[in-house]
Amino acid sequence: MRNEILNIIDRILGGGCLTEPEGRRILQASGADIGWILAGAQQLRETFCGNQAGLCMIVNAKSGHCSEDCRFCAQSSHYQTGAPVFPLKTRQQLVSEARQADQRGARCFGIVTSGARIQPGAELECVLDALREIRATTGIAPSASLGLLDAATAAALADAGCVTYHHNLETARSYFPQICTTHDYAEDLETVRVAKAAGMKVCCGGLFGLGESVEQRLEFGLTLQDLDIDSVPINFLNPVAGTPLANARPLEPMEALKIVALYRYLMPHRHITVCGGRGSTLGDFQSWVFHAGASGMMVGDYLTTPGRQLSDDLRMVTDAGMKYACC
Ligand code: SF4
Repeated sequence: MRNEILNIIDRILGGGCLTEPEGRRILQASGADIGWILAGAQQLRETFCGNQAGLCMIVNAKSGHCSEDCRFCAQSSHYQTGAPVFPLKTRQQLVSEARQADQRGARCFGIVTSGARIQPGAELECVLDALREIRATTGIAPSASLGLLDAATAAALADAGCVTYHHNLETARSYFPQICTTHDYAEDLETVRVAKAAGMKVCCGGLFGLGESVEQRLEFGLTLQDLDIDSVPINFLNPVAGTPLANARPLEPMEALKIVALYRYLMPHRHITVCGGRGSTLGDFQSWVFHAGASGMMVGDYLTTPGRQLSDDLRMVTDAGMKYACC
């Protein structure tokens, strides 16, 4: 594996690409071979992204009662999970939370709402007002994750100062019907295209440990590679009681790290951010995400579960030889 990785690195540094058989071998590697794979991913991350860890924070701006049936999600109205349910927070609340994130060192702050899409009218106007105020009064680069988008809403968000639109595809197209039946993969892809066309950066990734195959992890990475997006959030399933995936087998830490590494080989120039499920899946291996090629991570609380103490995460970043930076 060592010589194969050295050849792959030379090719990628020279502008070439990882091949599909190589991607398969990365995901199927075991033992000491994983060490060579991670070393190569780290070299690519250092070359293309440096030692800057982009830290982002999110606010759960509207929680629960979602019409969609994503089988992993605590916020779907199809399942009884006991997750918080509340309507859209006020502009003042959203701005106040962005200011707190700014003071805690995050440069990227995401406003995340449950539901298939943001409602036009009062809901959308509230988010637009909050985005304008965050841009005007903080050093934060705001992002939004409001579900499916049409062109007019995307243009309004970009005009209000939304720097990045976040929209996950969740999984490979071939596995998506096993995960969500209330909307089509094509709608998610269209949302990514609409957000890009409006001039926003796009943050688009997914969730692993849903029961997808190794082949589907590769398929998904190739889809993301084709979309030419700016950053790729990688989440690992933290099973939620009450959802159909409550008893899903958690990924092994090395399995999760191989996914991060594969995506660095596939998308060497992109920001790769490890988000939800970091602690529950990686445990003592959390800092290894940077050795596996990640260039950032989400800090603070997740949507419906608490995160680690920020001071612990910041220490981990510096112990891994990284500095904090803008996403
Ligand atoms: S992942 Fe998003 S769209 Fe799917 S159920 Fe949860 S909140 Fe709704």
